[in-house]
Amino acid sequence: MSEAGQYLWWQCGECGHVLQAAEPPETCPSCSRKCEFRNVTCYTPDCGLSGPDPKLMGGNRQPGA
Ligand SMILES: [Zn+2]
Repeated sequence: MSEAGQYLWWQCGECGHVLQAAEPPETCPSCSRKCEFRNVTCYTPDCGLSGPDPKLMGGNRQPGA
């Protein structure tokens, strides 16, 4: 059984725009480019197991800041 409304979070590799969808879109709604979308869905209790994972999104985030 699958839970209804279980979407994943995707982040645009070009502009960093984050959106929620079952599948990544062909073109980014923010920068309108065909870019690579990364799955940034949270899979750990750390971030609540739902929504985007800030650790995945903030690739250049400073540790322990
Ligand atoms: Zn974009």
